Amino acid sequence: MAVDITTDLNKVRNIGIMAHIDAGKTTTTERILFYTGITYKIGEVHDGGATMDWMEQEQERGITITSAATTCWWKDHQINIIDTPGHVDFTAEVERSLRVLDGAVAVFDGVAGVEPQTMTVWRQANKYSVPRMCFVNKLDRTGADFFRCVDMMVERLNSTPLVLQLPIGAESDFLGVVDLVGMRALTWRGETKMGEDYEVEEIPAEMAELAAEYREKFLETLSEADDAIMEKYLEGEDLSVEELEAAIRRATLADKVNPVLCGTAFKNKGVQPLLDAVVKYLPSPLDIEAIIGHSPKDEAVEIARKPSDDEPFSGLAYKIASDPHLGKLIYVRVYSGKLEAGSTVVNSVNGKKERIGKVYQMHANKREEIASVGAGQIVAVMGLKDTKTGHTLCDPQNQVVLESMTFPAPVIEVA
Ligand code: GDP
Repeated sequence: MAVDITTDLNKVRNIGIMAHIDAGKTTTTERILFYTGITYKIGEVHDGGATMDWMEQEQERGITITSAATTCWWKDHQINIIDTPGHVDFTAEVERSLRVLDGAVAVFDGVAGVEPQTMTVWRQANKYSVPRMCFVNKLDRTGADFFRCVDMMVERLNSTPLVLQLPIGAESDFLGVVDLVGMRALTWRGETKMGEDYEVEEIPAEMAELAAEYREKFLETLSEADDAIMEKYLEGEDLSVEELEAAIRRATLADKVNPVLCGTAFKNKGVQPLLDAVVKYLPSPLDIEAIIGHSPKDEAVEIARKPSDDEPFSGLAYKIASDPHLGKLIYVRVYSGKLEAGSTVVNSVNGKKERIGKVYQMHANKREEIASVGAGQIVAVMGLKDTKTGHTLCDPQNQVVLESMTFPAPVIEVA
């Protein structure tokens, strides 16, 4: 049965995971899908066991997640993971996928640090001002050095890392992280479970001094990026976890800082706090005020489309994929209005009418047929004949070309 998806857009995250090859993008994505348990909100299917079996099968066959957009749910938020190719050869494809995501997580190898492909993708993300977080992975490996990796983010990426966690233990004794926002320790000692499986402890005594030093650095960096925090910080006022989190979000959305977290995806340590941070700090589709395109008749005439179901439909086809069961699928990011199965739209780039066939939301191990989907969502569409990547689909009565889109600065609400 096809369903309508209208979700509170504040609770949607369209994210990409970017990394140099081998840094752990696939492993991190798989762990995200494991921890989120592929709990479908729509239809309320809680299918944890099946997810595990599926992952084991996929791993045995050496297949990784192939969908260009995979939807999962974490704490009442819908996270759409958009596949961002890591390889330099795919630069054009990277650019296209960067245009459809609202925020990104860069995964680093804790031993190798900042590698060339990350530098390339990072520069491309700078071009679109994509808010980004960093996850220093592989801290269980011999030679892993979290602090060196953070230094490299400054030197090689020219970024402003906002260190939110410190590793507890190293290499095979890597146990967990110090959370510098809540000033507590999160540890993983037990068996891996879906959902939130870390333990909350006091910061280990031998790390108290280092934690205090890095808490100070965290507050300094944050206050330089956020005036509201600066004022309170200078006056020595107490800052609550909620205030700090709100400020981290503002500074991240404004692309002034990059929150840094750490762990090991392989050993299942650190991924759930990363998911929490995605929800807390990365933008929702509503944080992009409007997307600017132009009239199909005149490139000089700008047209803005807001992320609202009440606007005329506009969407960008960003990837063509071949599904073994469904045939040709075109992945579309809906920017405004509603995309409805069976409706007729116009491809404003080539002027051709297109009939939307079936519409699917893709999960890691199943797809869901959808009757209509609102602004901010990403879906796979069947039945399009003349649409290629980079083409705009839109309401025939209200045409727009999104090809040359630029992202205006996100809307920042200062508390
Ligand atoms: P991708 O190329 O970025 O998608 O990287 P993969 O996720 O395929 O990981 C590359 C290799 O590193 C694989 O052999 C993984 O098992 C391994 N790997 C990934 N994450 C970790 C980690 O946290 N620790 C260790 N030791 N190995 C990891």
